[in-house]
Amino acid sequence: MVAMTWKYLKSYKIQLIIGPLFKLTEAILELFLPFFMAKIIDEGVLKGDLDYVLRTGMLMFFTATIGVLCALVCQYSASIVSQGFGTKLRNGLFSHISQFSNEELDLFGTASLTNRITNDTNQLQAAVAMLIRLVIRAPFLCIGGLVMAVSLDASLSKIVFFVFIIFVILLLFTMRKNIPLYKKVQEKLDNIALLARQNLSGVRVIRAFSTMKLEQDKLNESNAEYTKVATRVGILSGLLNPVTTLIMNLSLVAILWYGGVRVNNGAMKVGVVIAFLNYLTQILAALIIVSQLVVLYTKAFASAQRVIEVLSTKPSIVSGEKQVEWDNQYPYAIEFKDVSFVYEGGKEPAIEHASFQIKKGETVGIIGGTGSGKSTLVQLIPRFYEVTEGEVKVNGENVKEYDKESLIQSVSFVPQHSVLFSGTILENLRMGKLDATEEEVKKASQIAQAREFIEKMPKGYDSKIEQGGINFSGGQKQRLAIARALVKNGNILILDDSFHALDYLTDKKLRAALKKERKNMTTLIISQRASTIQEADQIIVLNEGAIVGVGPHDKLIDSCEVYREICESQMKKEA
Ligand code: ADP
Ligand code: MG
Repeated sequence: MVAMTWKYLKSYKIQLIIGPLFKLTEAILELFLPFFMAKIIDEGVLKGDLDYVLRTGMLMFFTATIGVLCALVCQYSASIVSQGFGTKLRNGLFSHISQFSNEELDLFGTASLTNRITNDTNQLQAAVAMLIRLVIRAPFLCIGGLVMAVSLDASLSKIVFFVFIIFVILLLFTMRKNIPLYKKVQEKLDNIALLARQNLSGVRVIRAFSTMKLEQDKLNESNAEYTKVATRVGILSGLLNPVTTLIMNLSLVAILWYGGVRVNNGAMKVGVVIAFLNYLTQILAALIIVSQLVVLYTKAFASAQRVIEVLSTKPSIVSGEKQVEWDNQYPYAIEFKDVSFVYEGGKEPAIEHASFQIKKGETVGIIGGTGSGKSTLVQLIPRFYEVTEGEVKVNGENVKEYDKESLIQSVSFVPQHSVLFSGTILENLRMGKLDATEEEVKKASQIAQAREFIEKMPKGYDSKIEQGGINFSGGQKQRLAIARALVKNGNILILDDSFHALDYLTDKKLRAALKKERKNMTTLIISQRASTIQEADQIIVLNEGAIVGVGPHDKLIDSCEVYREICESQMKKEA
């Protein structure tokens, strides 16, 4: 944990030294103020020496001013260090997460990763700021106050010691009760955030199913749990306040009384008693800050663990060295050799002993029931997941050997749940090839059957896409996603159920355009519709993770039972 923190702090060495140093100076100066006060009363006021009062008063003013300046320098360094630390940590987390394969993303979940980049990092940022501002100052004021008190009057300082110990016991007691509760509060808050996020992003579905009441109840319940725990924390901390004030005032009374007796005896001066009152308040205020620091650091500690969990997760997929060099020498684009794949935490393999070969330039259809492993199979090609057993080869080379970037560049992938990003259509289409020309973008849109509707829009390619593409229909979104993959123009094109929101005619036109314009592209089309893949050079039939048939339509319709059933059931429906 220290190593991780240091990694993001080390470029602020100067501020890390200057900040606490100036704060310490300020604390020392502050400790002198009651001492001067005592002098003014004893040497100035009581002896009627106005000149002395003025001189010492000026000295106090001077001391306080320097103290404020020191505090300013410290505050400034603290801001630079903590904000800089936060920024670096957030960037570090973000770039680390972007190395993750889908397996690690599945492991944490998007909501949790978002929380770790935002909430937890903020918590750590606050802890760093406090490290500079208070972690040295508060204990120093406590101990320094005690030392000053003893040096002024050893006998009276017994009271201060006594109060100090009572107060420490009180703080330890509340902290021991509060810290476990505090962790619970944090968990409950996480839960509320999760529910709220889910509800807001799924609000259309919730309305459609009219389950508002149910969702409301869930949130109410979670909220009530939070309230319960938070109230307990509140009561304990709330009690601390009056109890502190009570102890403080009682001890002030004790000092005044005992000090008064000693002043009457002539053993002590009036000013010293007043200085004592000041030191006691300083010490107790510092102790309260220490207790708040403990709470802050408990939270920060929990956050640090959550952040480190992410940072110490190694991406399971390590990039190779080789560049993909597509040539016409090697005949096969994609080869699977006895490939099996099990999801992390899954019991059954999602893919079992899959073997097949796809020639360059071929169009291959993949069909099978839902959950038969179609999406899983194709995600192994750009190495989004690592195979559990066997080999996946692209252009004759195991995908593990390839440089990750290079491999991904050569595969244009349209995922089953395609996401458009907020921005313009053009920005979205250029995602895979930032320097694509207007010509290339138009061509790709044309093949994807998107050109017509884009150009009909008032702003054409500069039209805005809202977050998640909600201002487009399902079929339009699908065509934009396909166009985006086509702009990238990899050697392999994978379309994971990308036609399901298209009508039959558009589906057909799109496939015809692909065949004509992108002859050399090796194309994999996953579809639930037999008609979409019927004309493919090869069809791969999947059933519960196993390949049960490979070949052209004519062959499969005779030899593959599963395929025949799919075709027959769909023909009946259409008839
Ligand atoms: P298809 O695309 O044919 O509908 P999938 O490849 O999506 O099927 O899923 C195959 C199997 O793997 C299913 O049983 C599904 O529950 C499981 N599965 C899919 N994605 C994941 C995942 N990210 N984590 C765990 N299991 C998964
Ligand atoms: Mg799928």
